[in-house]
Amino acid sequence: MKTCFRCGRDLPGSEFTQSYPKTCRDCLRVGRHVSKAKRRGMVANLTIEEWLETLEMFGYCCAYCGGSYRDLDHFVPIHYGGGTAFGNCLPACRPCNMAKANINPMIGFPTNGLKPPVIGGRRGNPVNRAIAEGKIKGGER
Ligand SMILES: [Zn+2]
Ligand SMILES: [Zn+2]
Repeated sequence: MKTCFRCGRDLPGSEFTQSYPKTCRDCLRVGRHVSKAKRRGMVANLTIEEWLETLEMFGYCCAYCGGSYRDLDHFVPIHYGGGTAFGNCLPACRPCNMAKANINPMIGFPTNGLKPPVIGGRRGNPVNRAIAEGKIKGGER
């Protein structure tokens, strides 16, 4: 077990990379996506605490299929104005993230066999909003 110096969690060694041995993968992920959104002039204020809360919400599983989480997915892609912000960032497995790619779910969902995300959490979550507005159908677990 090792302690991440950013979030303070005690995690197995597999949650750290050789290039950044003191910062866990989730902290790196958040940092990377925040700077990416910032560079493109989008909202970029996701904190590691908010990301960990999101992961809790989804039980550390892919929001789309319940499989093992590996990527941070922007529900509304940065390309379509989605920011790296609480509610727009969901855990995804590699295949679902690839299947979703740059598709904007607010325009059309589901797409290429991708299941809609299973949602919980706060109001204001864009996924919940899309479901409420009938743009997508919420999944069931
Ligand atoms: Zn960390
Ligand atoms: Zn998945």
